Amino acid sequence: MTSIDALKITIHMSKYPMEPSQLNYLSAMGIQPWQSKQSMPAPRVQPMETLVNLCASVAHCTACILHKTRTQTVFGVGNQQADLMLIGEAPGFYEDQKGEPFVGRAGQLLNAMLQAIGLDRRTVYIANILKCRPPNNRDPLPDEVSQCTGFLTKQIALIQPKLLLALGRIAAHHLLNTQASLGQMRGKLHSYGTDNTIPLVVTYHPAYLLRNPQDKNKAWQDLQLIHRSLNNLIKKELTK
Ligand code: SF4
Repeated sequence: MTSIDALKITIHMSKYPMEPSQLNYLSAMGIQPWQSKQSMPAPRVQPMETLVNLCASVAHCTACILHKTRTQTVFGVGNQQADLMLIGEAPGFYEDQKGEPFVGRAGQLLNAMLQAIGLDRRTVYIANILKCRPPNNRDPLPDEVSQCTGFLTKQIALIQPKLLLALGRIAAHHLLNTQASLGQMRGKLHSYGTDNTIPLVVTYHPAYLLRNPQDKNKAWQDLQLIHRSLNNLIKKELTK
């Protein structure tokens, strides 16, 4: 038994709401967040507790070789009841250091893109396909993706977003099970999942846009598509 176990530390989550990156850290410390039944939110918020468990599983995962080189796992961040969920490919250097997806310059650009359509990173949910950084930011290997994909599938099922946004070719290839070019995937609504229940839009990865600013106009078109689609989906739900 560790000294932390002996202390039986609990954190009252209704008093101290935490981001998954913080929960991740607590989990690594062996500290279990506690939530009273009285403070338990309505049904759609119930996933909170399960996301905590999932975050803890990710923090301890050694299923692929990337666990050997990570500083920490990067689970996801944002509103756990978000209508829009953004998915990139994998953590980079800054994400690995901070335990949060899309920080650094690419993260700042993503924040600006969201603000352009009236959103910010606290109103959406942001995650990656891989939860650990590939060395030197290389592309994820098929074995790593297949080992890690179950975590993302559960995250999506728990958050139940109305719309998914794939950031970049690699995320889009995985989510749509295709090898189409980014140009072929942009500009339309796709469907995600075995029962095709969640609409999905594809756009450029912000890191690509930093290297290729001439494509920011096309990214703006994608953002407008996201904005329109999200509004339509929300209206549709309201009229049900
Ligand atoms: Fe586990 Fe995913 Fe990290 Fe690999 S990348 S060790 S599967 S959490």
